Amino acid sequence: MDIMDKCEKFYSSPEFAQSLGYPTNPRTAKAMGLYPYFIPILHSEGTEVVVDNKKLIMIGSNNYLGLTTHPKVKEASIKAIEEFGTGCTGSRFLNGTLEMHMELEERLAKFVGKESAVVFATGFQTNLGTISSIVGKGDAIISDKEVHASIIDALSLARVQKRAELRFFKHNDPGALEKILQKYPEDHGKLVIVDGVFSMGGDIAPLPEIVPLCKQYKSRLMVDDAHSVGVLGGGRGTAAHFNCVDDVDLIMGTFSKSFASMGGFIAGSKEAIHWIQHTARSFIFSASLSPSNCAAVLAVLDIMEEEPERVERVNKIAGKMRDELRTMGYNVGASQTPIIPIILGDAERALKAWKMLFDSGVYTNVAIPPAVPPNLSLLRTSYMASHTDEQLEKILHAFKELKAKLGIG
Ligand code: PMP
Repeated sequence: MDIMDKCEKFYSSPEFAQSLGYPTNPRTAKAMGLYPYFIPILHSEGTEVVVDNKKLIMIGSNNYLGLTTHPKVKEASIKAIEEFGTGCTGSRFLNGTLEMHMELEERLAKFVGKESAVVFATGFQTNLGTISSIVGKGDAIISDKEVHASIIDALSLARVQKRAELRFFKHNDPGALEKILQKYPEDHGKLVIVDGVFSMGGDIAPLPEIVPLCKQYKSRLMVDDAHSVGVLGGGRGTAAHFNCVDDVDLIMGTFSKSFASMGGFIAGSKEAIHWIQHTARSFIFSASLSPSNCAAVLAVLDIMEEEPERVERVNKIAGKMRDELRTMGYNVGASQTPIIPIILGDAERALKAWKMLFDSGVYTNVAIPPAVPPNLSLLRTSYMASHTDEQLEKILHAFKELKAKLGIG
């Protein structure tokens, strides 16, 4: 088949889309008014967005601390543009390092409790570069099955570039992890990888059980804290939450969520970070974090110190919403954080629920196959410290109405 044939078929043929694991093809979904992607937002105030001249309350964002519209964050970004322009137009390795990048790295390392840190242009690139560079030839990478796509792609890269052995253990199951660790001799290089908070389920990796296993079987441990920084451990992440910062070798984070910007970082020992700076290809061969993005993260670090109540507020809101939604009869899975999935079953039910909420003024994200297994389609809802009590009541009201329409409870 010509390599372009599949593109046309995917768009127009339900059977072809289904053969790839999608419920249907984009054209059919659009005709039914059930296409939930690429919806243009005309204006955003963080918790409220405008689509088609209609205001919606946003519960589909990762802006956990609600800081994308904070005056100090905006001001810092604007000032950075005025001082340095709109881009660095080069790699950190060469012309793309600003003093501001170094300052951010130092502050981030301190913030998460590690010796050193390095910032990348995105979180996705952070995982790609870190994982493929830190493992050596033939090392084993043992990963939770439900880690983020950027880690999955990083593992493929590590397999090709380093002939790394890839093993997956059942989600959040330390027993399954131990069974894999047992198979390797003590001196075989090993790296265990988990998400601190899982991006779809909102559940937390059981580090108090994973850390002792890594110690016992002499494995290094990396935690992707994309959804944990700003949320857990007073904002400092999952290891801080469980009081085991020294036992996690590499802490990864992104700036595209609580940090209200774009970019990512990896923190660890001085030597590990030095190695990554010199060998991570997605770091070396890509332009550096833009001045405005960098300055925004620095401003967010200030605000986190000045306003710790934001972290408390987002967790308090999450607890309230989880309880209320569960009481209504919704299946919220194993959520423990501001990410609260509403598990609805098949794709059509989830898409209809998404549309009903959208029509009643609530913006959610929908996850359907192939992003989730069949029958586990869900609405991914997530909350911000800046949601007002009034907005939360409106959201709950919309879910009450939806429940009746879906016949839940
Ligand atoms: N890790 C996790 C767990 C994520 O959820 C994401 C983004 N959704 C990333 C990494 C990638 O981050 P970024 O958006 O900065 O590329």
